[in-house]
Amino acid sequence: MSQRLTIALSKGRILDDTLPLLEQAGIVPAEDPGKSRKLVLETNHEDVQFVIVRATDVPTYVEYGGADLGVCGKDVLMEHGGQGLYEPLDLRIARCRLMVAGRPGAHLQPGRLRIATKFVNISRRYFAERGRQVELIKLYGSMELAPLVGMADLIVDLVDTGNTLRANGLEPLEHIADISSRLVVNKASMKVKHQRIKALVEQLRGAVATRSA
Ligand code: AMP
Repeated sequence: MSQRLTIALSKGRILDDTLPLLEQAGIVPAEDPGKSRKLVLETNHEDVQFVIVRATDVPTYVEYGGADLGVCGKDVLMEHGGQGLYEPLDLRIARCRLMVAGRPGAHLQPGRLRIATKFVNISRRYFAERGRQVELIKLYGSMELAPLVGMADLIVDLVDTGNTLRANGLEPLEHIADISSRLVVNKASMKVKHQRIKALVEQLRGAVATRSA
């Protein structure tokens, strides 16, 4: 295995918040990943490159060795299952909460509840652990709409300010998990490129500490 490091990132909030941390660790992309349409981006280090993938694909790229490292939300990791990955560092960025939400009191209704979400694995586990019978409806976005059109009783979604819920007459009802972005590492890479990766993890740890101080 070459000592080259490939880091999987996704566009949007995570990229915007991760780039300053990487910069503090001395890694800067050769061009603006927010603007470039390239999927592989060189950096100021000859032996470090970024690959730009969908947020939900980051764990898969890292698990299968398409990237040595990656940055993704804890929600994405929980939904993926996290197998084949190390999660050595909480980057403490893109923080929010994973919540059950709906109309006030909707979670207290008796009987089988319909849940609309893109987090079907997390939701299945969450309700099963509580012995609650639910029917899961997989959606890919705009979950807030499902209760409004009578398609679901509840949703499971990320909540930051709560504005999106409020604007749609919904409210957060149950807290499932606090979410932030995590650095993930391929298990084989961690062995073979140990020194290189350990050094980067420690630099990023320092950057996170400075930022959160
Ligand atoms: P808010 O209205 O601030 O509560 O934000 C809620 C909307 O933003 C929902 O559609 C969420 O799916 C999305 N969202 C909030 N925080 C995050 C995050 N950290 N990562 C990805 N999506 C988020």
